[in-house]
Amino acid sequence: MNLHEYQGKSILKDFGVGIQRGIVAETVQQAVHAAKELQIQTGTGWWVVKSQIHAGGRGKGKISGSDQNGVALAKSLEDVARIAENILGKILITKQTGPHGKMVNKVLIAEDVYYPGASETKEFYLSVLLDRSSGRNIIMYSTEGGMDIESVAEKTPNLIFKEEIDPSVGIQGFQTRKIAFNLGLSGNAFKEMTKFVMALYEAYDTIDASMFEINPLLKTSDDKIIAVDAKVNLDDNGLFRHKDFEAMRDKTEEDPTELEAGEYNLNYVKLDGNVGCMVNGAGLAMATMDIIKLAGGEPANFLDVGGTANAARVEQAFRIILKDPNVKAILVNIFGGIVRCDRVANGIVDAYQNIGNIKVPIIIRLQGTNAKEAKRIIDESGLKVYSAIQLQEAADLVNQLIKMN
Ligand code: GDP
Ligand code: MN
Repeated sequence: MNLHEYQGKSILKDFGVGIQRGIVAETVQQAVHAAKELQIQTGTGWWVVKSQIHAGGRGKGKISGSDQNGVALAKSLEDVARIAENILGKILITKQTGPHGKMVNKVLIAEDVYYPGASETKEFYLSVLLDRSSGRNIIMYSTEGGMDIESVAEKTPNLIFKEEIDPSVGIQGFQTRKIAFNLGLSGNAFKEMTKFVMALYEAYDTIDASMFEINPLLKTSDDKIIAVDAKVNLDDNGLFRHKDFEAMRDKTEEDPTELEAGEYNLNYVKLDGNVGCMVNGAGLAMATMDIIKLAGGEPANFLDVGGTANAARVEQAFRIILKDPNVKAILVNIFGGIVRCDRVANGIVDAYQNIGNIKVPIIIRLQGTNAKEAKRIIDESGLKVYSAIQLQEAADLVNQLIKMN
């Protein structure tokens, strides 16, 4: 699950991680009120108005049809009102949203932390993530903050450092000092950085996050270390341990079909191709997608109907796959182990009739217990479905039918 910047920052704050303070707002009025409130709390006279969407690149991104950036500095309450007005309820297009952009429903009014002072302001990059191959957490960091880290990695990979953390031991003092040192810090800023990294890792570990990305991580002109941006991803598998985070889910940011599938406990991920897939078991679903690709096609989705591929679930799965207008054919690949193929075949026939008016060809491959009988049921059903016994045969048939349509 992804969080908005303002949500991520509020969690970090609870763990004692330094953050750029802010108040979230949904209307222009609330935005101005938030700015005044923040002025009382922090003494700031300048603010940044920050679009809250589940995508980065907001600073350089533009509101559709205007010159307004997704993040902008406000030097007066009038500026705050004007910028909030320009942003709220509008579509923000960034490098990460794609050309369709994302609707901005909330803005974060944050204190300006790039104020002049005794020393210079400096932007760093720091992220914490899980390295699945080593089973360890990695802190990735760089002196080149504030910009697109992918291009830093491409052009100057030597400026990106990595610190590996054994999750059973946790982060050690020498590691936080090494990070502060490599970032070129000294004095108070050095000490503040070690505290920041320690608290950040603690937060990452405790909330079962799968990624934190702080870009920019800022050294202010008075040597405070704070998160100006916070991208927080939570591990869905750990969410049951953090029931309070469920309220932070923003369904408007999620794919509506994926949400609906979740309500029926169907494991569905939308993809960009045109071959709909209905499969039982995640491993078989992956193999099916591979075979479709090898046969020259592109899967439109990953869908695991689970072990109990009964008629009701099959019907629901068909309905979800058919919502995607890109789908030109559907490949059903069910292995009858616990579930008998003839039952699944009858379920498919029922579902087909219940839904009615299915225009795309459906290719069904049932293998396992009572597979022959299942094929007979499909072939004799009189429906416009194709049956195949071999997976390769099924995949080739799908691609042929797509080309014909
Ligand atoms: P992103 O573009 O989606 O990654 O959003 P960020 O939260 O990283 O903000 C974008 C940019 O806005 C940052 O890289 C900063 O340059 C700028 N910015 C953020 N906060 C402030 C601030 O308090 N003052 C000023 N002057 N600029 C800020
Ligand atoms: Mn950022």
